[in-house]
Order: sequence, then structure tokens, then C-alpha cells
Amino acid sequence: MKKIQMVDLKGQYAAIKERVNASIQEVIDNTAFINGPEVHAFQKELEDYLGVKHVIPCANGTDALQIAMMGLGLKPGDEVITADFTFAATVEVIALLQLTPVLVDVDPINFNIDIAAVEKAITPNTKAIVPVHLFGLAANMDAIMDLAERHNLYVIEDNAQGIGAAYTSKDGTKKMTGGIGHAGSTSFFPSKNLGCYGDGGAIFTNDDDLAHIIRGIVNHGMYERYHHDVVGVNSRLDSIQAAVLRAKLPNLNSYNIARRTAARKYTQAFSGIEQIITPTGFCNAGNSICDTCDCHVFHQYTLRIINADRDALVKHLQANDIPCGVYYPIPLHAQKAYKDERYNEADFTITNQLVKEVVSLPMHTELDDEQIDFLTKSIIAFVTK
Ligand SMILES: *Cc1c(COP(=O)(O)O)cnc(C)c1O
Repeated sequence: MKKIQMVDLKGQYAAIKERVNASIQEVIDNTAFINGPEVHAFQKELEDYLGVKHVIPCANGTDALQIAMMGLGLKPGDEVITADFTFAATVEVIALLQLTPVLVDVDPINFNIDIAAVEKAITPNTKAIVPVHLFGLAANMDAIMDLAERHNLYVIEDNAQGIGAAYTSKDGTKKMTGGIGHAGSTSFFPSKNLGCYGDGGAIFTNDDDLAHIIRGIVNHGMYERYHHDVVGVNSRLDSIQAAVLRAKLPNLNSYNIARRTAARKYTQAFSGIEQIITPTGFCNAGNSICDTCDCHVFHQYTLRIINADRDALVKHLQANDIPCGVYYPIPLHAQKAYKDERYNEADFTITNQLVKEVVSLPMHTELDDEQIDFLTKSIIAFVTK
């Protein structure tokens, strides 16, 4: 059996080596390392893929979130509601811009932001909601957009884990995640579903004015060379990373299908094991479990371990050279940097429970049946013993 990796970037590279090497070599030959033609070409190709009017490439997914918030003109003291159970980047940029983060609980079934909790947290100072399509599953965008419209709020989708997922609305229309809210962001960190070979990110919007503002912000607030109209940042996707992404984008759908196939095999193997809750791909529109639709791109395949010792399982797997991860072990509201007297433990019962139950299994495009069989058997043997 091939050694199991949490993420197998080497195996993925081997399959596209010639195409990637040729695109990188072209950038080096042309020496247009910053803002080269690859960046613009990638931008157009991603706009077409996502069906979104504007893609603005930038340096990483954290910058993308920050720049989206700057572009929307959020001001110190404005409240921004986001999930308690996610990667810290989301809340980090809110705090960095001196906006007020308002963390709310998540849904135990889809791990995404809890709609009732969002509604309860809205005050006259609320300006934006940042749903995260956590682990690759589209959040309930119908309900979020509806709340936002009723309360006049912006929606910024953190799509760092969900690129390539599609969300089907109640009315049957299907849109790619990231292009549904007023703005969206993603990350091209190497291990993300569409990863480059360094750091990278992008902002999405269908709003022409906002796109224009953001294009200036990413480039030192310049709309005309050496005229600095607004306070900006330096956040660029470099040409080599754009070249890698151009070589990989045509494979994104097949990568996501490979992930879903592996996820389905995991789920089949775990069926009937009462100590394990497998992740569900809930299509939020129909509220039924959907096996076939593409609302979940399985950035992570995350189990909940109940009535068994999650921490002991993690130790056991590590001791047997089986990689796994706990995403995330601490709720954001309990992190030192983001603790606040406003928060009440009773409002975070689901996150507080999930951090003790979750474990993410190896998930990438190169998992084979023998590895999945070995992994699932090892886990089942341990939790049922
Ligand atoms: C990875 C990630 C980010 C940050 O992306 P970087 O490119 O690493 O800055 C933000 N939000 C979520 C949910 C992520 O998973």
C-alpha cells in the first residue's frame, strides 16, 4: 500500500508535471514576474469557471477577506457576524480592521453558520455577515441572503474551502459558491482544493463599482499610477502562481469529483457504526441529503466521534502512521486573542461540542481503495472495541 498522506500534493503534481513546468518556465522566460499576462488570463478563466463578473487576484485568502471588507467601506465599530467554528483568518481580519467580530454558533449537521443564531445577533450596528463554506459544503445562502436583504447587510462569502461547489437555490437556480454574496473570497494555499505552489488568493464580486474599488485597494490604493486615492495594501498574485493555477484550473472539477468519490467510499464503510457520524452533503435548498449534487467539494472529510474517545482515536491513528487532523480544536470565542465578555458559553453549545468530537481524515485527489479500506477498518476497529 502507498503511504497514506493527509494531502498528496506530490502525487497530484506527478500527473500534471509537464503542463505545470511548461507554464512556470514560460513566466521565467518572459520575466514578467508581477502582473504578467498569466495573472490576467487566470482571472478571466476563473471568472468564466465561477460565472462571476469580477475576480480580483491577491496574495492570499486572508488578504482577500480583509480587502473585501475594506472595499465595502466597513468602518471601526461596525459589527460583522461570523461562525465560531472556522479557521481564525475570518475573525482575524475583522479584528485587524477594528471592526467588531460577533461570533455565533454553527449547525451540528452541516457545521455551517446557524441561521437562527445570526438573526439573534443582528443589532443596529451590524453591517455584514461572513458565512464560511466550511469543509467545502455550501452554507445556507438562501437564508443568509434573505436575512441580509431584510436587515440591509453585506454578505462576504469565505470560500477558501469551497471552491468549485455549487449552491442550488429554492427557485432552482444554481450558482457557484463565492459569487452569491456581495463579495466572496478564496485561498489558493497549496492544500486547498485549487492550490498553487505558494500563497495566493482572490476576491469575487458581481458589482462593477466594488470591483473597481477593490482593484485599487490591492495595488496601494492607486487607480492611476502614483495617485493614491484611498489607503490600500500591496496584495498581488504573482505570475508564477497564476501560471500554476492556470495549469490546474481545468482539473478542478475532476479533483472535486475524486474527493467526493473518496468521501462516498468513507461514508459507505462507516455506515451502521453508531460511534461515528459521517458528514452530510445537505443541499440547503431541498433540505434533503443529496448524494449526487455538487454542494459539497470535501475540502475536509470530517467525522464526529460520539460515545468513544476522539483524542484516544487520534493518538492511535498517529501511532499507526495514519494521518488525521482536528479542525478545529478550540472555538474562536475561546481563543485568547478573541475572548470577549460579551460572549456567553450558553450561546456556543454546538461549537463547544464539535471541538471535542471532530476528526478529519486524509482527503485529496489521489486516495485509492486499498488506503480507504485500511483507514476505515482501523478506525472502526478502534471505536468499536
Ligand atoms: C485557508 C483559509 C483562509 C485563509 O487563507 P490563506 O490563503 O491561508 O490566507 C481563510 N478562511 C478559511 C476558512 C480558510 O480555510
